Amino acid sequence: MIRLLVAALMLLPAGGALARPAPRGAKSAGKGALRRWPAVQLDHLTTHERYQLCPDAAGHLPRRQLQGLRRFLRCHHTGRVHSIESRLPQLLYTVSHHFGDRAITVIAGYRAPKIALEKGNPRSPHKQGRAVDFRIEGVQLSDLRDYLLRAFDKVGVGYYPNSGFVHLDVGRKKRVSWIDYSHPGERSRYSPESATPPDADAVEADE
Ligand SMILES: [Zn+2]
Repeated sequence: MIRLLVAALMLLPAGGALARPAPRGAKSAGKGALRRWPAVQLDHLTTHERYQLCPDAAGHLPRRQLQGLRRFLRCHHTGRVHSIESRLPQLLYTVSHHFGDRAITVIAGYRAPKIALEKGNPRSPHKQGRAVDFRIEGVQLSDLRDYLLRAFDKVGVGYYPNSGFVHLDVGRKKRVSWIDYSHPGERSRYSPESATPPDADAVEADE
């Protein structure tokens, strides 16, 4: 079982910048009624598949959720399936919940090594199953970016305003962010004004 709630709370910095999201649709009627965490829908832009993250009553994502997610986030170029870092769906759920349980549109998840190489990012975190590119319809991309930077530590956050998505990866020693003004299909055009100029670590993270 993935300890979603515990993991979310562990993200709290000393100052408590990330408030625990209030569960929507919580059942409060009746003695002993369980708090219910709503399902979050993921829509894949390329495969047009849908997947729901469905925490149990305690807010945990069952193990079978990760197994199904592996296939949903497979490399859409090759069909190859890879393991996915368990923190990634936890954060995706937290993000969706913060923005009113809106569906998440996934642009890319896992990326096969040869695809990462073709894109010029052989060390891409997408290749390791610890990155996802996404957006939320109805949410300003900059608001989404700002929330990711405010809420999560030890993540990579890429802002792609001309391609219409944000990149989120986990498993870093510290938070890193960058802006890439490239349009779809173009080579990266990093902004010199990025809060953290894309260093070698950040450059791993392609679109
Ligand atoms: Zn990416």
